[in-house]
This record gives sequence, C-alpha cells and structure tokens, in this order.
Amino acid sequence: MINSQVILIKSGELVLKGLNRATFESILIKNIRAALKPLGRFELHSAQSTIWVDLAPDMDVQKAEDAVSRVFGIANYSLALECEKDIDKILAAAPSYLANALKGAKTFKVESKRSDKKFPLQSPEISKMVGAKLLSTFNHLKVDVHNPDVTVTVEIRDRSAFIRKDSTPGAGGLPCGSAGDAAVLISGGIDSPVAAYLMAKRGIRLTAIHFASPPYTSERAEIKVKNLLSRVARYCGRIKLIIVPFTEIQTAIAQNCPEEYFTLIMRRMMMRISQELAARRGCKALITGESLGQVASQTLPAMVSTDSVLTMPVFRPLIGMDKGEITIIARNIDTFDTSILPYEDCCTVFTPKHPRTNPKLEQVQQAEGQYDFTALIDKAINGVREEYIDANSYIEL
Ligand code: ATP
Ligand code: MG
Repeated sequence: MINSQVILIKSGELVLKGLNRATFESILIKNIRAALKPLGRFELHSAQSTIWVDLAPDMDVQKAEDAVSRVFGIANYSLALECEKDIDKILAAAPSYLANALKGAKTFKVESKRSDKKFPLQSPEISKMVGAKLLSTFNHLKVDVHNPDVTVTVEIRDRSAFIRKDSTPGAGGLPCGSAGDAAVLISGGIDSPVAAYLMAKRGIRLTAIHFASPPYTSERAEIKVKNLLSRVARYCGRIKLIIVPFTEIQTAIAQNCPEEYFTLIMRRMMMRISQELAARRGCKALITGESLGQVASQTLPAMVSTDSVLTMPVFRPLIGMDKGEITIIARNIDTFDTSILPYEDCCTVFTPKHPRTNPKLEQVQQAEGQYDFTALIDKAINGVREEYIDANSYIEL
C-alpha cells in the first residue's frame, strides 16, 4: 500500500519480560487486532520491536488512532505516511501530510534514518532537503535541532519510505490477558469502575460481578452498571458480566441479624458468592473499589472481617487513594458522569443507622450465625444471569 497511512507501535514494559516477551507480544497483537477490527481493513506485522499496522485507504485514521491509544501494553505510537522511495515523491507528500502537526509549532527538525543503503541519498541530505521544503512551505517555522516543538522523521526502509510525526504516549500497562483472569465486584459507584480499569491495565482479563436487589434496585441501576463496564471495555475489550439476585439474602440479613452488622454481613455474603462464581469461571482473584477508611465497611477491621470468608486474594487497587485522586481517573476514563447518576445500589438498601467501624471478627461471625444462609447462597449462585458487555453496549440513560 503506497501513500497510505501506517501506525507504528512500540510496546511498553514488554521489554523487561525476557523469555515471556514473545507471549506478551502475541497477546498485545491480538488485542490491537480486536480493537481495530470493527473499524475496517488493515494489515499488521511486527519487526524490529515495532508493530506495524497498515491501514486500508478507506479506514478512518482518527478512529484507528483512538482505538490504539486505549490498548494496554503500548508505550507509544506514531502515525506515518508510507510513500514511494523516491525523494521527489517524499518532498511532494511531506508538507500536506505534516500540515496539521506543524500548524501550532514554532520550531522543528527533521531526522532521517536509512536502513535501505541502496537509496541514493544519505540521511543528512534527506533531512536537509525535507527541512528546506518544509521551511519554504510554512513561513512561520524555524529549525531548532536541540529543542524542537516537532520532530519529523523520514525513514527509508526496504519496503518503502515513511514520513512520521512525533510519537504519542500510549495507554501504558501490560496487555490485557497477560496477567490472568480476575473478577471485579462492580457497583454503580465511582470507585469500582476505576478499580476495574486499573487492574485491566496491569494485564488482568476482567469478569464482572454485580449484585442486584430488585425491586429495591431498579432496571436503570443495572443499565448504569452496564454502561460503566462498556466504558471500561473500550480499554480492555468485552467483559463478561454476571448479575446475582441478592434481594432474598439482604432481606434475610435484615430480618435475622443485629442491625449494626447488616453491612458487614452483606459484604461477607458478596465475597463468598463472588469467590464461588469467580472460581467456577477460572478467575484467580477478586477486585474491589475499596479505599481504606472511606466508609464504615472499609476500615481495616471491617476488611479483616470480609476477607476472613475468602481463600482467594482480593486486589484493591484504590486502597491508598483519596476520593479526589480516584475521581481524576474516573473522569479520564469517562465513567464519572455515569457513576454520579442517582440510581440506587443494593449497598444503600437496609443500611444501619450506626454501622460498626471496629468490629471484632467473632462478633460478626456470631451475628451472622443467627441464620443459616447456605440455601440462599446456593440459590443466588444458581440464579445468576450472564451477558457480555463491549464498547458498543452503552445505552443513553
Ligand atoms: P463504589 O464507588 O465502587 O460503589 P463505594 O465507595 O460506594 O464503592 P461500597 O458501596 O462500600 O463503596 O462498596 C465497596 C466495594 O464493594 C465496591 O467498590 C465494589 O467493588 C463492591 N460493591 C459494592 N456494591 C456492589 C454491588 N451491588 N455489586 C457488586 N459489587 C459491589
Ligand atoms: Mg457503592
């Protein structure tokens, strides 16, 4: 494909992974393919620690760039124009291709790399000619070789010539799926979608679990959760969502256990059920959006009490963050506006007036022991609904 656009992608922390590198890179390539597939035709190959994506001429380059910008495991990427290895063609193509990138710049420089030694001009000559062409086309520009606003790169490769703008930082992290599977407990709040995003960024493939208590929680609350996951799916691809019917368990807690322990017992039920559902689907850890001390059920003693029902590790990526820090990420990943919509979560049903913030484990166990929850837990596990959520699942509320 000549005179078409290419995205050159450099992987991130992959370089550190020694022998695992090949596996990581193949997962990354699979994820890039999946992100671009809905947008049109392209060809992808990797060479010299760079992944090349050749876009078909009819592909929307902006959309392709957006999609690539969200794939985890990419350190940076740049757009390039591929053109014939002919200096006249390069000089003709460069100004219009670079016009946008150079519009806001005051200074620039041109760097050239010539891996095809058969090309008749040497790198410094190529740079000089392309630089002169750009200077004569754009009167506002000056050359600054030390600290330019924009660096233009011309590469002469075996296949063809490439004219490239500055690279853009990628989403960072590790390719989704490279770190294994975990289940995120997702509510409609601000925190859990951020927790999901952060763990996906470390290479986790997500399954999501949501507890719903109709009629106390509405269908809109459920759509809200799906919308949040849909936003996260823009980064990590589709997510399996498991919806657990939780009304009977919450009602049983409210009717049989001391009020001050309602929330703690409810959280222990959520954890038990989630662990079972997660294990059955190959997940090796749970993820929550808890942050130390944020609410009564997130004090250290409360977490000791919830974790004591588990053998699986719980990842809490927000544990040391302030609400403000979490909110910044929520805005960046575009979940915040959905999170603040006022549809009730099951956690806000049957909340005690005076929850225990410093519970003793034995007291919680005793409070919970007032009722045998085994049958209700089994019923909830057997009554789940499942569906896949992807970037297109978003429904306007
Ligand atoms: P969030 O903003 O994520 O809702 P929060 O600060 O409101 O968190 P809690 O309501 O105490 O805190 O919930 C703590 C964590 O428990 C959540 O981050 C989430 O991981 C999980 N959780 C809460 N409600 C639900 C639910 N209905 N279904 C699944 N998980 C839930
Ligand atoms: Mg919540």
